[in-house]
Amino acid sequence: MKFVSALFCALLLSLSSAFAQIPAQEPTSVFGFTDFTNESKIEKSFLAVPDTTLAGAHLKTLTAKPHLAATPEDKETAEYVAQKFRDAGLDTEIVSYRVYLNQPRKVLVEAFSPDGKLLMTGPQREHVEGDAFQDDPRVVMPFHGSSASGDVTGEVVYANYGRIEDFDELAAKKIDLHGKIVLVRYGGNFRGIKVYLAEQRGAAAVLIYSDPFDDGYYKGDLYPHGPMRPESAVQRGSVQMLSKYSGDPQTPGIASTLDLPDSARIQGRGNQPGIPSIPLSYHDASPILRALQGPAVPQSWQGALPFHYHYGPGGVKVHVLSDQDYQLRTIWDVIGKIKGSDVANNPDSSDPWVIAGNHRDAWVYGAVDPNSGTAAMLESIHGIGELLKSGWRPRRTIVFCSWDAEEEGLMGSTEWVEDHMAILKNAVAYFNMDVGVAGPEFGASAVPSLQRFIHQITRAVPSPSASASTNPSVYDIWNAHSDTASNEHRGSNSPLKTNGEPHVGDLGSGSDFTPFLQHAGVPSTDIGSGGPYGVYHSAFDNYAWFVQNADPHFLYLQEMARVFGLEVLRMADADVLPYDYPTYAHAITGYITSAKKKAADLKLSLNFTPVEAAAARFTAAADKINAIQSNPHGDLKSLNQSLRLVESDLLSSSGLPNRPWYKHTIYAPGEYTGYAAVVIPGVFEAIDASDVTRATEQLTVLTDSLNQAAKRLESAQPAQ
Ligand SMILES: [Zn+2]
Repeated sequence: MKFVSALFCALLLSLSSAFAQIPAQEPTSVFGFTDFTNESKIEKSFLAVPDTTLAGAHLKTLTAKPHLAATPEDKETAEYVAQKFRDAGLDTEIVSYRVYLNQPRKVLVEAFSPDGKLLMTGPQREHVEGDAFQDDPRVVMPFHGSSASGDVTGEVVYANYGRIEDFDELAAKKIDLHGKIVLVRYGGNFRGIKVYLAEQRGAAAVLIYSDPFDDGYYKGDLYPHGPMRPESAVQRGSVQMLSKYSGDPQTPGIASTLDLPDSARIQGRGNQPGIPSIPLSYHDASPILRALQGPAVPQSWQGALPFHYHYGPGGVKVHVLSDQDYQLRTIWDVIGKIKGSDVANNPDSSDPWVIAGNHRDAWVYGAVDPNSGTAAMLESIHGIGELLKSGWRPRRTIVFCSWDAEEEGLMGSTEWVEDHMAILKNAVAYFNMDVGVAGPEFGASAVPSLQRFIHQITRAVPSPSASASTNPSVYDIWNAHSDTASNEHRGSNSPLKTNGEPHVGDLGSGSDFTPFLQHAGVPSTDIGSGGPYGVYHSAFDNYAWFVQNADPHFLYLQEMARVFGLEVLRMADADVLPYDYPTYAHAITGYITSAKKKAADLKLSLNFTPVEAAAARFTAAADKINAIQSNPHGDLKSLNQSLRLVESDLLSSSGLPNRPWYKHTIYAPGEYTGYAAVVIPGVFEAIDASDVTRATEQLTVLTDSLNQAAKRLESAQPAQ
């Protein structure tokens, strides 16, 4: 799914028509390598392979038909990807899981005035003049993955973005939601949270619409004249309660293999809401909002439709019908492996996999989300395949993954992770790419230990931008943009730079890194190249939109193929695993300081002394190990194992309160944000709830994890 903010300032980068020159910069020293000379040659050979024309051809093939998860067209894309994996020399299999998925039988919204006059009926078909793809009968009607079925008629209340503070404001205004149909706009949080909160407050159904303020005409020209959301376009999506757990709603913590007995499945709706919800275009939402009475909303609740909005209720009644066909359906992950030379030479050794993945399923055509990422990944694999043909072997085993049913709730990746928990204890990294390219602006999120790694990788890859004088790297353009962009235009409060380098964000959720990092403790990154993108999860996220608005010459697909492939190559070949623990320790120390301040502001009596001591101990151990990593010698196997296990030490076996599937003590999706990360979640969420008992317990859990991680680093020494 991967939420992409539409709020990008326009950056005028002219594109070079020729291939970008290689190398962008000759690296002097690279963290993780005793001698980079040989690796540098391998990387140069790799970087020369990813091809713009081939990447564009992959994209065109993958997006020729709508390919919703578990449909025959989805299976065709699995077979196409599997063939490309095999062509490159990967040991490839299609791995099936059987998961609980809904597809819509009937979805209907009708609005009536108090005197019974029909005001609208929908959802209206998505349509613009001149789009080449929209009329395919396989375009699925607008619906929400994980929506309940239901048939409800009621009064309407407008709840802005459906954030917790929006619902609190309605409560303060004494606007009762029991039995009401809540109308909210997209944005501000994950859509599943909107439905979850509305249900908690007694609502009978939810309608979620795309306001033109957020990704429509208020932000730019509408497709087909520009990149923004046309009047009829609908954002489909999952309303699963992702912050409880991801994956098959009926099998948290276990894999939905084909032979899993039905008796192993949980009863009830698991992480799915109990009330129906339906997505709407602003064409369909507008007559409802226009008719709505009650007090006028404040300016912060006003969208960009041409009338003032009201809270409701009154003025309009709505009939909502959602008939969902729930079944156990088969989905198809494609998994391709390249056995590492270490394990080939020493079959007894544990096999430290380097894993990289992208989802393949789409709500409709999925040109940006996710198949720009798939096209780029296939060209990364093309490059690595050419190295294999020249006789090269990676030191560590490489595993490429094409996930299915990500859109419904990270199903393909979650079930595969739950199926491979034992071997994932040794996996050294998971590299994710969801939206590969929506425009020219590179961005990344990662665990802090891999921020430096991403900075070094992007320094080695040329940027297609010709706006700088000589051969800029991806890093150079990313850095320059971080200097000039203003927060005001980004719709984000995160910093642009950290310690003079482009900011790498925190991993929350909304894509396939979640099971790897937050359930299994595998160090992860997530990369993409963004831009103005208003057609997210609509029929207009198609090949025609992509070549018109995102990347007409596929230069950014090539760029992302190079960055993604280089992450894999460098991690697979490193002498010493390039985890930068001082950066991790610094980040954690900052989180603890913020939590302490927040507790003081709320006048909660909590003892931070033990956790501060543990963080200081972790910092000292991290500094010491960093010096050893920078000058590695001797047998490095046990050093690498210790370095890897630090991330596992940051898991707690009991998981987070009320959501035990989430094990990571430093990062989780916010319980009430869904996409955005909450840091030291056990502690922060207990403080937010002013729950001193729980906060005290969670401080102990965090202290234990940090002490364990510090001890791991203190005892890690290269064998002589
Ligand atoms: Zn996606």
